[in-house]
Amino acid sequence: MNSTQPSFVYTAQPARVVFGRGTLAQLPQEVQALGASRALVLCTPEQRQQAQLAADMLGTLSVGIFDGAQMHVPIEGARRARAYSASLGADCMVAIGGGSTIGLGKAIALESSVPIIAVPTTYAGSEMTPIYGITEDNLKKTGRDLRVLPKTVLYDPDLSVGLPVRMSMVSGMNAIAHAAEGLYAKDGNPVMSLMAEEGIRAMAAGLRGVAAQSDDLAARSDCLYGAWLCGSVLGHVGMALHHKLCHTLGGTFNLPHAETHTIVLPHAMAYNSKAAPEAMRRVARAIGADTAPAGLFDLAKDLGAPTALKDIGFKESDIEQALNVALANPYWNPAPIEAERVRELLNNAWAGRRPT
Ligand code: NAD
Repeated sequence: MNSTQPSFVYTAQPARVVFGRGTLAQLPQEVQALGASRALVLCTPEQRQQAQLAADMLGTLSVGIFDGAQMHVPIEGARRARAYSASLGADCMVAIGGGSTIGLGKAIALESSVPIIAVPTTYAGSEMTPIYGITEDNLKKTGRDLRVLPKTVLYDPDLSVGLPVRMSMVSGMNAIAHAAEGLYAKDGNPVMSLMAEEGIRAMAAGLRGVAAQSDDLAARSDCLYGAWLCGSVLGHVGMALHHKLCHTLGGTFNLPHAETHTIVLPHAMAYNSKAAPEAMRRVARAIGADTAPAGLFDLAKDLGAPTALKDIGFKESDIEQALNVALANPYWNPAPIEAERVRELLNNAWAGRRPT
């Protein structure tokens, strides 16, 4: 918030957060607190074991497991899950996993209003937002609806220890991107900015700890705390050029979600650095760097995360198409959207140049 005389509207979204090691054991009470008794546990095939652990803890409060969660929530999978949930008479979803699994829970809740208990095992932040996305005919449709906002979120660091280090790093950088753009959001407010800066600080510290030792539970805990704060920022305020570019690159060129965020972020910050100096100061302070754009680039590099789009399958010859898609329906952004500057941004992100 730049102004010395702030003016804003802040609508806080309800969220019950249960945080700490071993909190998965509190699932039964949390299901009952929602007045539910027939929980369907959702997961990806890879996380079946964690889902089984949750189902075992729930005992008779669980009616089964659906292990068909997929990246980008394809409509066919969502329909199967909706039908399965209805056939079991499920009155609550326990989504254990990352953004894809929580996204599947949201697709079910959108139609049925069945409440979601989210148990995040990545740092993507979907658990704190009323934003859903469903992919139909190769097109990801997103929207906002309070019915999909999880009622309860259980953050248990023990469950994220198995998240591979590389995935942890890019997932954490994805979370930092939410908070960084939240710091210059058109509809931002001082409370969100506090959460954003603290979220970036905690995430950067946690990621450095996890990079050094992947089963460091204090570091895993910092990351989840950061994920909560950064996800909350994403849920409350609008995003700008960075998120628009990442949605374009993910949607049109099928680039991996979290890696794309990691690579584009320093360049989006460079694009906005003159227009949003206070946000830049706060990002830099949170990560302990002199400037936000170069600091975020160095952070990604130090963490062993990718820093060039050319290394994740994006072709230089695709830059023009990406530019056209991104400019066709731009989000609000603190700096004016100028084709030449966005082209330069994409070029720098493609090549992996360190912003100056
Ligand atoms: P993901 O959910 O796709 O998970 C990636 C893989 O990691 C999966 O195979 C999963 O099973 C596995 N995994 C997750 N946690 C693990 C753990 N602890 N140990 C071992 N394996 C684990 O990845 P993501 O980055 O969390 O989510 C990305 C998706 O979420 C994207 O589709 C994105 O658009 C969406 N998203 C949505 C929002 C929102 O607000 N709606 C916010 C952020 C991301």
